[in-house]
Amino acid sequence: MPTIDRQLRIMAIDDDPFELKLMTHQLSMLGQDDVVVFSDPVAALDRIEEVGEDAFELVFCDLQMPGIDGITFQRRLVRSHFGGQLVLFSGEDDRTVQAAANLARRQNLRLLGILKKPIDLKALGDILVAAAPAAGTDARPSRKRYSHEELRRAIDQKELINYYQPKVLIATGQPIEVECLVRWQHPDDGLVFPDQFIPVAEEHGLIDDLTQLVLTNALHQAAHWREHGLSLRVAVNISMDNLGSLDFPEQVMAALEAAGVPAESLILEVTESRLMQDPVAVLDILTRLRLRRVRLSIDDFGIGHSSLAQLRDLPFDELKIDRSFVHGAHANPQKRAILHGSIDMGRQLGMQTIAEGVEDIEDWRVLKDLGCDLAQGYFCARPMPGEAMPAWVTEWKQRFIVLEREGVLLS
Ligand code: C2E
Ligand code: MG
Ligand code: MG
Repeated sequence: MPTIDRQLRIMAIDDDPFELKLMTHQLSMLGQDDVVVFSDPVAALDRIEEVGEDAFELVFCDLQMPGIDGITFQRRLVRSHFGGQLVLFSGEDDRTVQAAANLARRQNLRLLGILKKPIDLKALGDILVAAAPAAGTDARPSRKRYSHEELRRAIDQKELINYYQPKVLIATGQPIEVECLVRWQHPDDGLVFPDQFIPVAEEHGLIDDLTQLVLTNALHQAAHWREHGLSLRVAVNISMDNLGSLDFPEQVMAALEAAGVPAESLILEVTESRLMQDPVAVLDILTRLRLRRVRLSIDDFGIGHSSLAQLRDLPFDELKIDRSFVHGAHANPQKRAILHGSIDMGRQLGMQTIAEGVEDIEDWRVLKDLGCDLAQGYFCARPMPGEAMPAWVTEWKQRFIVLEREGVLLS
């Protein structure tokens, strides 16, 4: 039985006192005695708000409760800026529990897992181990909220740095593009991930400056690789908020010219997380970029707003399928069907198709079967600093030859 060597601050919520007793007992058997229990979720939320967002490291919550259910509870947790990790437990059927889990992830709650009732001691032990990762693992640090003043300073001090993740042709294994993913090299907190500061930038009018910095760095990196014989297109994520000023295409062209990189080598990945403020301006800007040969990618396809309408109206070159339809598609008929349909549709529209979140060989094989063009994900490489890319390309090419020779890339 796996154990951990420190006490976690735990809260457990279930309307059934017997279940709570059982859980407390099981946690105690696993060496965890710092457990606060609540049979009333509203009282639990009040406690979280009272003691502060970081007081509890791990919250176990039942899905089916009278009063407020587990879903309402999640929503209220988000509002309280809860910074700990969440585990759902439930006796409901798999698809309902999965839907609840998806919802938690979509709201950026740190969902650690789902436990089925009756709770298995071994499964509970595994959850505890995952909740308290050993020092030195690459787990993301706790989610802190940053102020716009801090972010403003970070942009001015150039503390934002780019990581790059390759996109690989499935047919040949050739890496032809990289996606640029911004990180904040924070003086105290280490490497901070974009979900912790992109929303701050969008809310406080800093996204244009952030994008300019990321774009300039990405294009200089691309130019540097080209000088050393590595020709990779580079994809930069842009926010819908960047598409508010009509001179955005001119800014992009100026950055390309300054770096000496041809427009064909730049891809802009556009995600729509909210409804478009001004669809006419967006269409204007994206069409002008396209006229200048900048490539456009529709990111997170399948989860944004009105994706199909966007495909109809906007001049995209690349369809990038969200990772929630990719990883695990071989074992999940719903995911596979959506993946299949998206790839076919992209092909019929004459677009290049790419799947993100390709984590293992099964994911790769499904994509190969379905005729997807490109793969991006941990199976090929994690995002890395620009200087690591040439060595990765060499290593990957060798790895790919071996995988092909062994025949393991085919299903
Ligand atoms: P995205 O554009 O969809 O980027 C892909 C995200 O998936 C990245 O997270 C990447 O590290 C992660 N990822 C890559 N491979 C895998 C995999 O195999 N499995 C899983 N589970 N995840 C994988 P990251 O770097 O945390 O970025 C999150 C999001 O932040 C990005 O999602 C993008 O929307 C946004 N973002 C990143 N950089 C920028 C930027 O410069 N500007 C703007 N506006 N947004 C950015
Ligand atoms: Mg992207
Ligand atoms: Mg994406």
